[in-house]
Amino acid sequence: MPEMNIPLLDLQPQLDEMRDELVTAVTEVIDSKRYIMGPEVEALEKEIAEYCGVAEAVGVSSGTDALLLALMALDIGPGDLVLTTNFSFFATAGVISRLNATPVFVDIDPITFNMDPEQVRVTLQRMSAEERSRIKALLPVHLYGQCADMDELMSIAEELGVPVVEDAAQAIGSECLFRGERRRAGSVGVAGCFSFFPSKNLGGLGDGGIITVNDPELAYKIRIKRVHGAEERYFHRVIGGNFRLDPIQAVVVRLKLKRLDSWHQQRQQNAARYFRMFEETGLNDFIRLPEAVHDRSLSNRHIYNQFMARALRRDELKAFLQQEGIASEVYYPLPFHKQECFADLGYAKEAFPVSNTAAETLLSLPVYPGVTEEAQRYVTRKVAEFYGV
Ligand SMILES: *Cc1c(COP(=O)(O)O)cnc(C)c1O
Repeated sequence: MPEMNIPLLDLQPQLDEMRDELVTAVTEVIDSKRYIMGPEVEALEKEIAEYCGVAEAVGVSSGTDALLLALMALDIGPGDLVLTTNFSFFATAGVISRLNATPVFVDIDPITFNMDPEQVRVTLQRMSAEERSRIKALLPVHLYGQCADMDELMSIAEELGVPVVEDAAQAIGSECLFRGERRRAGSVGVAGCFSFFPSKNLGGLGDGGIITVNDPELAYKIRIKRVHGAEERYFHRVIGGNFRLDPIQAVVVRLKLKRLDSWHQQRQQNAARYFRMFEETGLNDFIRLPEAVHDRSLSNRHIYNQFMARALRRDELKAFLQQEGIASEVYYPLPFHKQECFADLGYAKEAFPVSNTAAETLLSLPVYPGVTEEAQRYVTRKVAEFYGV
């Protein structure tokens, strides 16, 4: 039996804090007999818009649907190209292909693991003028809770004359300086896509998501397409789908939103503890902890949705930790260009060396709010034991 058992994510501390409130709020929805959309969804939309610093937000059925709907509202379809990262959760690339557009993958920055603007330029140089003219959007991801380089990516998008859709599913509240101004994830591009999947920093009791938008016309298009493209019920000028957010999720997310910044702070404190402990133990030659590259003046320059370490002999380390009662996870084992479903895109396996290395070395360690100092000491001790330090 291991000395301790540490899950990668434990929602129990949150539940202990809020169980009664959650039960009351959900019970009120049940008793209201109103289970589709309504005032709770609208209230959440206002609160998220304010939290992210945008004009409007549109609640949707999931983070994946947020991405799909944003691209649909931008009329992305057959023949179109969308430049995106080669290294993310599958949904980022999947939604592009589902619209019969083609994802064009770009390698990542080795420190932040986000789409590398330098590599975007290299990719553009390799394309013909005809191909470049078919680019309809950039879809960067703020991976693990840290914003991509929006200054550079927005400049490139402006040169191309195309919009940027931010996949901010892992980065709600994460901040960057954009042209010298403090901005939150999802507020810089034309649309920001968020997920309320339970393992995100702001999670519901099931699936849900939201899209942040500044342009009222785009917000309107998204709202219409959220309900089958019907401006007036049963009359359809455009095609949409059922992308609605349930009020049960909305009340839960509203309650959690009040605590989100305190949970971010706890994740950041836990991250800082790992930095200290790993340094003191002399582990830095074997394992590199994540780096927050944005300006130190930003309180949420990294919100550590995942705490991703780059480890030598990663798979052996993961198995060892498992034996010792410590859960860890590989996000993500396979970059997009190596996924079977994208084989027809014709990328060589050796293309994207940075993504390939990331897939072989990255390991997520427990950083959730409520992980104890004792648990983190135990993790550090076991990692040191593995490397013989
Ligand atoms: C979680 C996630 C999504 C999808 O969100 P769902 O709510 O699970 O559909 C999309 N992109 C990224 C980067 C994610 O982490």
